[in-house]
This record gives sequence, C-alpha cells and structure tokens, in this order.
Amino acid sequence: MSSITENLDRIREEIAQAASRSGRKLGDITLVAVSKRKPVSAILDALSHGQRVFGENYVQEAAGKIEELGDRRSEISWHYIGHLQRNKAKKAVELFDFIEAVDSIRLLKALSRHAQQAQKVMPVLLQVNIGVEESKAGILPSDLEPFVEKMLAEELSGVDVQGLMILPPWSPEPEDSRRWFGKARKLRDSLSERFGELDLRHLSMGMSGDFQIAIEEGATIVRVGTALFGAREPR
Ligand SMILES: *Cc1c(COP(=O)(O)O)cnc(C)c1O
Repeated sequence: MSSITENLDRIREEIAQAASRSGRKLGDITLVAVSKRKPVSAILDALSHGQRVFGENYVQEAAGKIEELGDRRSEISWHYIGHLQRNKAKKAVELFDFIEAVDSIRLLKALSRHAQQAQKVMPVLLQVNIGVEESKAGILPSDLEPFVEKMLAEELSGVDVQGLMILPPWSPEPEDSRRWFGKARKLRDSLSERFGELDLRHLSMGMSGDFQIAIEEGATIVRVGTALFGAREPR
C-alpha cells in the first residue's frame, strides 16, 4: 500500500462515518480526487485503488495529464473545478466530463454551444460566492435568483445545470465552514422551490479540512486534494 491508497481508505471511511451520522446514503456522495499539481503516477495510484473521479483546475495542466493517461482516460470522470475563462470553454468541453464552477451567463452560453457542437450535454454547477468575498469568483447569493431567471430564458440545451458549488471563506477552524455549507443548502433548496424545472441535485462543497462537516450539511460532491495526495508544491 502506498500512502495514497492508505489515505484513500481513510477518507472513504470518514465519508462513510459522516454519511451515517447524518442519515445520508453513501451512494449519494461523490469523492472528487483533486490531482492538481500532482503527477500522473499519483492519479494512477488512486485509480488502481478504485478512485474514478478526479478534479483539476487548470485546463493546460489537465490536458497534459489526460494525454499521458492514454487509454486509461476512459476509466476516469474528470471534473473541472477552477475558474474557467471563456476562451478555454471549447477545450474544457473536449477534456472534461463535468464543469463545477460556472458563474456567468456568457460562460454558460459558450459551454452550451461547444457542447452542442461536440454532441454532448455538459453537466455544470453554478459557483456561488457564499461569503461575498472580494477575492473569490462566483455569483453573489443575492444575485442568484435573477441569474437563474436569466439563465432559464436562454437556449442552453448543451448544458445541464445540476446544482451549486461553493468555497467557504478560509478559516483554520473547520467548524467555521458549517454555517456556509448550511447557507448553500438553503439557497439550493429555495431555488429548487422557486424554479421547479431545475433539478439541483448537487451541492459541491467541502475540501480536505472540512469534507465531513460538508457531508453532514448536505454535500453530494466533496473535493479532496491534500488529504489524499499530500501537500502540493507551490505553483
Ligand atoms: C485545490 C482545490 C480543492 C482541494 O483542496 P484541498 O484543501 O487540497 O483538499 C478543492 N476545491 C477547489 C476548487 C480547489 O481549487
């Protein structure tokens, strides 16, 4: 066993415990292994231990790794978890299976158009700037309803909006994230109530330090890097 496979076993156990504490089904929670700044050898290690969903936040970096993976690419579902520039939308549609952090109608339109051209329907999440932080991307909570209204008025048949993604304000204390996770869940629930035509089944929230808390608060997707692959080199 490598340290990665050991970490993976531990994280799976922690996910299972958090799910059972909160009366949730394990099958409703997806672990995204965030492999940014980690080599393909690390991805292969996790893949060999049954991990199937991986996340990257730079298109170029992901492109190199996906090429290096060759045939094994087909075993992986790739999530794009970074801020996506519109001029990378085409490449992102080509490379990824899920785009987690969309925060503009223009980007949705670009993704939809490229997906239609590629005869795909791309699942996406709307990124919400839950803590209203200057430094973070995402739709402000107060702008979310008008955003969805505008979105629903557009022809966007190449994308399938499946929920919300958040990054809570940074804190050394994981418990501090809980209220942001709860806030995201309430936002999702109120959007679902208001816009019955949407199926907002996903809440992507929780990282290495706080994924158990995120699960207790309703996360369906947790994005874990450091706890699985170890500390990253600075970029
Ligand atoms: C890097 C990253 C993660 C993983 O962070 P860790 O703290 O290493 O688990 C999760 N989500 C996003 C958007 C990231 O960029």
